[in-house]
Parts: sequence; C-alpha cells; structure tokens
Amino acid sequence: MVSKKKALEMIDVIADMFPDAECELKHDNPFELTIAVLLSAQCTDNLVNKVTRSLFKKYKTPEDYLKVDIEELQNDIKSIGLYRNKAKNIKKLCQSLLDQYGGQVPHTHKDLESLSGVGRKTANVVMSVAFDEPSLAVDTHVERVSKRLGINKWKDNVKQVEERLCDIIPKERWSKSHHQLIFFGRYHCIARKPKCDICPLLEDCREGQKRMKAMKKEVGTND
Ligand code: SF4
Repeated sequence: MVSKKKALEMIDVIADMFPDAECELKHDNPFELTIAVLLSAQCTDNLVNKVTRSLFKKYKTPEDYLKVDIEELQNDIKSIGLYRNKAKNIKKLCQSLLDQYGGQVPHTHKDLESLSGVGRKTANVVMSVAFDEPSLAVDTHVERVSKRLGINKWKDNVKQVEERLCDIIPKERWSKSHHQLIFFGRYHCIARKPKCDICPLLEDCREGQKRMKAMKKEVGTND
C-alpha cells in the first residue's frame, strides 16, 4: 500500500481534476434522495434520474408509496435493474419511516442504518448530501479507485476502504472527496477501460503501469 502522504497527494490530484464534483442524483429533499440512492444500486445515476423525474411527481411521501400495489410500483420503476427487489425495499423503507420516525428521514448514521434497505453506503450519502455532515460513502467507483491506486489492498472490504480513506483525508474534505473519487472512477479510471495513457497518476499507479505494459506488449505482438 502507498503511504498516507502519497495517498493524499494522489487524492489532491483527483480533486484538481474534478473540483466541481457533486451528487448527480436529482432530488429536492432527503426523502427523495434516499429513494434515489436506493434505486441507484448497480444502476447508473442517469437512468435513475430518468425514472425519478416522473416517480417523484407521483409519489411525494412515504404514504404515497404504501398506498399503491407493489405491482404498480414495480411498473413505475421497471426500467431500472433489480426493480422487483427495489420496489419491495422502497415499501419496507417507507413503512419503517412511518413506524419509527413519523415519516421523516432521520439524520444520524445509526437511525438511518436502522431503516429497511438502508446500508452504510446509503446512510453515508444521505448524511453527507442531504444533511451536510462529513461522510465518505464507499461505492463501487471509490472502492475500485482506492484499490487500483494502492491506497487499499485488493482484499480489503468496503469498511476497511472507508476507514483508510477517512484516516488519510481531512474530515472537512470527506464529502467532497467522495464525489471527486466517484467522478474519477466514473469518467476517468473507468472500470473496463481506465484512461491510463493520459492519467496524471500513472507514474505512481501500479495498476496503471501494469496495464500500460500489457498494452505495449499486445501492440508489439500485433506488429
Ligand atoms: Fe486508474 Fe490507470 Fe490512472 Fe491508475 S493509471 S488511476 S488505473 S486511470
């Protein structure tokens, strides 16, 4: 693993690349954000935004989601992957919001994570984006980037990735860094085809070096 100093230098480079990174899920309040994050599992934010444009017009409160049959809700979100499970989770979430918090989204990690269908990542995103509390949610992009850069080991779990990043990045930057790492993973260090050839971090990135070497070898072989 790279040193804390080196890791922060790399995170600073990423921050310079994406200074305006922010949450791309469209929402007007903490409840809509929670629903959007729940829908975004294994799905792009763009697709979620397409669906929530009409979804949030039809459903404004937890009661609205509970009033309709599960089939109707499934139909309203059916262009999103895993829509059957997600519809079930939305219903469970709405029920627990009403049962435990008077229909309001709570704003502590512990209370958020007590809700059905809400895990650590969702709670972190809601805390940071909706309530402006320092939080560093680790999604698939953040995890991949952190491991490729050697900030974490490949075998580390999501909690270990979060702990290491929170240890390295000053607390007041956690929320912004979360979005910057996501943008870096989404638009630059892409899962299938990272842009190693134009990456300012290539020199310090073992994964990038490996990929470039393999690419050169392939080109050489084809010649
Ligand atoms: Fe990602 Fe490649 Fe840059 Fe490494 S060199 S951070 S793998 S894009």
